[in-house]
Amino acid sequence: MKVLKFGGTSVGSAKNINKVISILDQQSKTSKIAVVVSAVGGITDKLLEAANLACHKNLEYKQKYNAIWTKHNTVVEELFENSENDQRLQKYHEKLNDLVTEKLSDIRNLLDGIYLINELSPKTKDKLLSFGEALSSTIIHHTLKSRNLDATLKNAQELIVTDLNYNNATVNFELTNTNIQSFFESNGHSIVLLPGFVSKSASGEITTLGRGGSDYTAAIVAAALDAKELQIWTDVSGMFTTNPKLVKQAAPIVQLTYQEAVELSHFGAKVLYPPTVMPVLKKKIPIVIKNTLDPDAIGTTISQEVTANGFPVKGLSNIDNIALLTLQGNGMVGVPGFSKRLFETLAQEKINIILITQSSSEHSICIGISESDAERAKEVIDIVFEYEIALQKIDPLVVEKGLSIIAVVGDKMKSHQGISGKMFSTLGKNNVNIRAIAQGASERNISAVIHKDDVKKALNSLHEQFFEIKTKQINLFITGVGNVGERLIEQIKQQKAYVKERYKINMRIAGLSNSRHMIVNDEGINLKDWKAQLEAGEKASLDGFFAHAKNLNLRNSVFVDITANEAVSNIYSNYLKQSMSVVACNKIACSGNIEYYNELKALSRQYNASFLFETNVGAGLPVIDTLSHLITSGDNVNTIQAVLSGSLNFIFNNFNAETTFHDVVKQAQEEGYTEPDPRIDLSGIDVARKVLILARESGHAIELLDLESDNFLTEDAMNANSVDDFFETLKKDEAYYQSLYKSAEENNCQLKFVAEFDNGKAKVGLQEIPEGHPFYNLKGKDNIVMFYTQRYSEQPMIIKGAGAGADVTASGLFADIIRIANN
Ligand code: ADP
Ligand code: ASP
Ligand code: MG
Repeated sequence: MKVLKFGGTSVGSAKNINKVISILDQQSKTSKIAVVVSAVGGITDKLLEAANLACHKNLEYKQKYNAIWTKHNTVVEELFENSENDQRLQKYHEKLNDLVTEKLSDIRNLLDGIYLINELSPKTKDKLLSFGEALSSTIIHHTLKSRNLDATLKNAQELIVTDLNYNNATVNFELTNTNIQSFFESNGHSIVLLPGFVSKSASGEITTLGRGGSDYTAAIVAAALDAKELQIWTDVSGMFTTNPKLVKQAAPIVQLTYQEAVELSHFGAKVLYPPTVMPVLKKKIPIVIKNTLDPDAIGTTISQEVTANGFPVKGLSNIDNIALLTLQGNGMVGVPGFSKRLFETLAQEKINIILITQSSSEHSICIGISESDAERAKEVIDIVFEYEIALQKIDPLVVEKGLSIIAVVGDKMKSHQGISGKMFSTLGKNNVNIRAIAQGASERNISAVIHKDDVKKALNSLHEQFFEIKTKQINLFITGVGNVGERLIEQIKQQKAYVKERYKINMRIAGLSNSRHMIVNDEGINLKDWKAQLEAGEKASLDGFFAHAKNLNLRNSVFVDITANEAVSNIYSNYLKQSMSVVACNKIACSGNIEYYNELKALSRQYNASFLFETNVGAGLPVIDTLSHLITSGDNVNTIQAVLSGSLNFIFNNFNAETTFHDVVKQAQEEGYTEPDPRIDLSGIDVARKVLILARESGHAIELLDLESDNFLTEDAMNANSVDDFFETLKKDEAYYQSLYKSAEENNCQLKFVAEFDNGKAKVGLQEIPEGHPFYNLKGKDNIVMFYTQRYSEQPMIIKGAGAGADVTASGLFADIIRIANN
């Protein structure tokens, strides 16, 4: 025997009832089934609303009644849509119409009666509400029979016996179990349909089991019959990690223990009515929550033990409309009996306590109750403690409304440290103020009272913290989209999906700027046509770009400077002060005056934002990162020797007796290996900046002026008025340049432009490198850096590879960005 319960949505329309019927058809083939149904979705609420209106002499109750009438008749008409052509169907249709009409007119009479006497007793309320389930079960019963399923309808009121506690009656299990068992023993039908929620007292009065009580009916039947399984069919695919209506990312929990299910449902996961669990728990009958609208989804299984190795936190839930009562005063300290009087008073008033916290100083006690009970609670408590309040031993009760409780639930939380820490720090980081906290001794539930407006944010951030594999979003603000910038954007476009999938980093370009235009987009710029968008963007300005980045206030923002502009480097500090990281390809900040360099480093620490500039030396080669690892691990750099200019390397690799210096420099210029004015490379200033940065990163406070630069160009070349004039001087002084080559050749050496740092002193200059030296065979535009350190004292640590080119530089920037994301 299996017991299936279908909730309001499942029987809320003809379309859904058809789904229910096909589930019943299928399941009744393999086992006898008992089927408990709720009222048609929304009907219980409408009955209540109509009754309240009638009771308050408001004639609008008639409209509510009309809506109830229309709803049921529409469902019936749709279920028997084609009955005219089939006599048998027509008979069922007519019979059903009679039954539905009869019940609806009973409802109408009851409502009219309530209106006349303007009174709605709990007893009348139960009588009225019981019609919701009576109607739905009758409709489904007739439809099943009309479709040739072997079904019978049994009024659950004749089986479930309760006390006279109307609206929330207590079940007499002895009588109830006997009734259920003897009925089912004598029943031969494959499907027994029962209305949920309804019951009767031993004296024959109609009672109900409380809102959501159809689940309970099903559990009572399942337990009485020792059913194999209790299936709760609803409109979601199981019990979710949190209310799916509030958190988009919520997902069904595959397995739960009974205790976890109780905690979650008690704390607002209304997919299961909390008392439901009790009867089936005793018999260890598993509960399976399934989705009528998606019957193939696996749903949630609730049982004694779970086999899956899930997160220690199983779910989050919330109860809204909470009021917090605070009773406090010095007179409470060390005086026994205060809480007893408090709780007794609330119990007498039938006010349910949802949460209690008491400070260990006993100076105050906080109680969470339903907001609708707050006024009554205040009234009775202030009366009970009248004497103490008059003596100022305690303060009058403080009532705060507009609150909610959120709870983190899981059996295994007790064996994991730090869950409450994570919970509260997540709430804190997201600016959610906590009014009270309670943790049961079972440690299965940690609850916090917060403002109701914060519930959605709180559940979403806790859900992200406890259940989601976090994808870190990185928001880039890139300035300078020349050669290197364009390559970087291309690389991001190409690698974006992979980086997200593999490293859980979501790279987005939120801002782009060149010297003329800029664009920003907090959703990330669409990279498909970024050039056209940028062209159409607003007029660029450094301050404007910074203001945009600041105002968007996106988490993990990174400013990327791919210019060679001093004004841009001067604005890094603004970004760092907003906790935005800076990635610079631009060398000026790190090789300019040392105060600014030091300031940027300090800001980076102070504001917890990275300042990275790997591409300043050796393009994409990991020179600075390696150096920083050496230093942070306690090594000391003694000497650095390096060839750091791709352009100079190219020139001296190609210059020999067969060529002229002029032609080689011209070729380097034409192929883009030098700056448009090749003197910037040939004078050695660029190399000087690089070695200066290495020296500073090694911990030496030196300035560019301290650096010794051995210039090999002639004075005429340096002083030439134009680039063309400069090339003329190369022609004129060819003999001088050839003499440099000759001398090297005679000494069996290669010419290399070398940067050196030794014992706190740095210098750059052209050197004759003998055969066998690591620099001797340096090819093309390669760079090489040798670090002699305390640990690498005999053999240096050598980093060698392509040290120039847009692609490798862009990939160096890319690496810096990933470093920040991984931080
Ligand atoms: P039924 O009418 O089938 O008894 P309910 O409306 O009583 O259905 O319960 C199902 C609803 O519970 C869902 O539609 C969902 O909005 C709500 N709900 C709240 N918390 C949760 C949760 N943690 N998991 C699943 N559903 C939840
Ligand atoms: N119809 C009742 C209610 O809406 C019982 C139930 O659906 O479980 O509360
Ligand atoms: Mg329900």
